Amino acid sequence: MLQSVDLHREITLENDLNTDLIVLQSHLESMLDRAKINSAYLRKFQAFEMRLLKLNSLSDMVEHLLDDAKDYFDIDMIGLCLVDEKGEIAAILSEAGYDCRSKKGLTLLDSKNKRVSTFGIMSRPYIGAFNNAKYGNYFSDVEKKPASIAVTPLTRRDTILGSLSLGSYQIDRFADTMATDFVEHLASIVGICLENNLNFETIKRTSFVDGLTGINNRRFFEQRIGEEVDRCRRNLDPISCLFLDIDFFKVVNDKLGHQVGDKVLCEVANAIKAQLRSNDVLARYGGEEFVVLLSNIDEVMVLEIAERILKTIRSLTVILDGSSISVTVSIGVSTYLPAPSSIPSECDIPSMLVKIADAALYKAKRGGRNRVENGGVISEKSGIDKVSVAKI
Ligand code: GH3
Ligand code: MG
Ligand code: MG
Repeated sequence: MLQSVDLHREITLENDLNTDLIVLQSHLESMLDRAKINSAYLRKFQAFEMRLLKLNSLSDMVEHLLDDAKDYFDIDMIGLCLVDEKGEIAAILSEAGYDCRSKKGLTLLDSKNKRVSTFGIMSRPYIGAFNNAKYGNYFSDVEKKPASIAVTPLTRRDTILGSLSLGSYQIDRFADTMATDFVEHLASIVGICLENNLNFETIKRTSFVDGLTGINNRRFFEQRIGEEVDRCRRNLDPISCLFLDIDFFKVVNDKLGHQVGDKVLCEVANAIKAQLRSNDVLARYGGEEFVVLLSNIDEVMVLEIAERILKTIRSLTVILDGSSISVTVSIGVSTYLPAPSSIPSECDIPSMLVKIADAALYKAKRGGRNRVENGGVISEKSGIDKVSVAKI
């Protein structure tokens, strides 16, 4: 009898042990699966990070974050919000041909306060189920809301740069049991890259921008003229140049002071800019001199444009501290007309364009100012390594 009780106990114990073993095995398998998934995520995450660190423009970085991150992290949506108080980010992105307003997932806010009023105060990342009342604004432009999310502030040197929000339709993709260090790490890498790219692009921009008028400077013009001439030569398009100089500008300074003079310079620059297409090149060449480069504009059209600018500036009235002042400009123009299958001439076409427009400007000055003078057309004869200058 005792023997049979012992046997029964032994069998029960063995069964219990077997059950425990099966449970343990299944735990182990699921842990191994989880470890495999995590190490795959880690590899993808490292690849994503390496790519992010290698990118050296803000537009490439934004694109990588918004377009590639979904595949890397196995998520359904991503949002990037950036504080852009001076409009620099918008300007840098639009100069790179990036349409910020229509870019899904990208939000630019013009103040830090707006970030708080839109998204609420958040100093630490959140990982877990999506709560529309609390996190709805992070995913305002998605058709279908996520089930689970990871949202983190982007900061650098105690400055709030914005926020990054990842969303998934899977409830277990971002569980609240997950550690936040992955998102924190990602946020700090994004923060560093953002700061680096912004600094780099701001320096690049300011080195090409005239501090007073906000238009491009001579350095920018000299870089672009070579590129534009080459492009027009390849496409056999004409290219024209305007050289403008404000008449009797010294008198403005002498009579009304340099402050008024500065205001006149800015308003003249804006008035010229308003008459141009967005891809035309306008630069402040020196003190009160401006240059314009018009691709695909021939000698007839450039004279029309020059006359239009002349009239616009003539009717401009600059008002400062009760003083009102009108100015005129003198303009010299030149045009380059590439010829098909011509041997590229030895002549330095960019410097010829500027020289001829400059000479025409001085002719306009000598002719009484407030007028346009045509310096002529630089044309290459087919197959001849020579250029000639002719007037229409
Ligand atoms: P002209 O019709 O022959 O061009 O006569 P002008 O008086 O315009 O030409 P001039 O070269 O004698 O004088 C140019 C003046 O432009 C002198 C200089 O003080 C002024 N100027 C140059 N840069 C600036 C600037 O950034 N701000 C101001 N206010 N004046 C400037
Ligand atoms: Mg002048
Ligand atoms: Mg001058």
